[in-house]
Amino acid sequence: MQGKTVRLYVGGEWVETGATFTVEDPATGERIAEVADAGPEHALAALDAAHASRAELAASSPRTRAGWLRAAFDAVLARTEEFAETITREMGKPLAQSRGEVAYGAEFLRWFAEQAAHLHGGFAVSPDGASRIVTTHRPVGPALLITPWNFPLAMLTRKLGAALAAGCPVLLKPAEQTPLTAALLTEILDGLGLPEGAVSLLTTTRAPELSAALMADDRLRKVSFTGSTAVGSALIRQSAHHVQRTSMELGGNAPFLVFDDAGLEAALDGAMLAKFRNGGESCVAANRFLVHRAVAEEFTARFTERVRELKPGNGFDPASTLGPLIDARQRDKVTELVRDAVAHGAKAVTGGEPIDGPGYFFEPTVLTGVDPAHRVMQEEIFGPVAPIAVFDTEAEAVELANATPYGLVAFVYTRDLSRAVRVAEACETGMVGINRGIVSEPAAPFGGVKASGLGREGGRSGIEEYLETGYFALGL
Ligand code: NAD
Repeated sequence: MQGKTVRLYVGGEWVETGATFTVEDPATGERIAEVADAGPEHALAALDAAHASRAELAASSPRTRAGWLRAAFDAVLARTEEFAETITREMGKPLAQSRGEVAYGAEFLRWFAEQAAHLHGGFAVSPDGASRIVTTHRPVGPALLITPWNFPLAMLTRKLGAALAAGCPVLLKPAEQTPLTAALLTEILDGLGLPEGAVSLLTTTRAPELSAALMADDRLRKVSFTGSTAVGSALIRQSAHHVQRTSMELGGNAPFLVFDDAGLEAALDGAMLAKFRNGGESCVAANRFLVHRAVAEEFTARFTERVRELKPGNGFDPASTLGPLIDARQRDKVTELVRDAVAHGAKAVTGGEPIDGPGYFFEPTVLTGVDPAHRVMQEEIFGPVAPIAVFDTEAEAVELANATPYGLVAFVYTRDLSRAVRVAEACETGMVGINRGIVSEPAAPFGGVKASGLGREGGRSGIEEYLETGYFALGL
């Protein structure tokens, strides 16, 4: 990969732009690749091609679209090592976790291959018996897919699989920190025999300009975005002009509730996964640990022991279990949140500092004595920091869990079935992990409420985000 220059892919051609940007390895700070830097003119050329391909794509049979996606699934899995190494190189997570992402990311291609062939409308007799109603679906049209750096493959396939299954041409806009995985996936899509223009890859450092130019054009019919709430809400405002459809997977602030009747061993396993998988750089990462007073001391002691066993290091070293943060900005933000909590009375029982040396590492950290008002509890941390606060009653736990503008996911640990259902129903989130530290699953409708977003990805709902529903009223 070293020394490689990645080009844009527009209208079925690999294109040089003249301008490039550098991608660096977050574990070492070393330069890994030069990547073509697209401007608005390239984005509009991609939209021309997408628009031109839309009728052919819409007319393709469901089996044909399923075949493309199934072939992409097989091709990604066949190149698992190459994908995993690329993900670790540009994003930093340990290689074993990158292999996990490849399996998970590929699964969306298989899931939507299956969904493509199972699309169907509906039939109803009108209540007065005078007409028949046939419900139909058609693809929304060209879709801009903007993805973040934390899961460079899975965030793309989750959108792309649904869009192509529905018959929508796509413009891929990966995060500038992680364009290499997207380029590898595009290489695979290039070999599938899709209509020319059905897929374009726009790598760029000028995301706001590109998205503004595309959204000002009413041939673009859809924007699907995963990233920060601030950018998501700016895109929703821009979409108002041409009434473009939006799907928004935005930030989270997941509470992780441990009740006094929880299986503590299971809660500890779940806590390690929910907090430290992907180095905490996940929108579904546990952001606030809320633990019942009766088990708080034991939970904290045993959790801290496990956190001390984590090994920060280069993702290519098999001993590493925690990668670097994505860049200096993210490391500075995590440092600032921890310092703010400590300055206001919290205690770092382990960790608490950035790690010196090359790369953007931060010590795996547990904070106690944290107040729900501290910034570390209010803001999305996106790093390996676990703040723990204590509660006394179920009502207090639910109130604390919901005291955030976000509503993506909550985790609940209890062995009391009634309590599990009661608390899960009371959590104002799109998803709840009950005695489970991971909720993501291609067959499930991933998504949030409140400031965490709009729309669902995966499950049966995922494809609906790319379909217009209509009907024929049949007179008799
Ligand atoms: P971001 O929202 O700035 O970037 C996400 C994607 O949007 C990238 O592809 C970026 O190039 C693009 N983008 C940025 N500004 C844009 C604009 N004005 N118009 C169109 N596209 C634009 O997120 P980030 O800077 O990578 O991370 C910042 C914070 O976002 C993180 O700390 C975290 O809280 C959150 N985040 C959430 C998720 C998630 O999965 N929900 C993922 C990554 C980051």
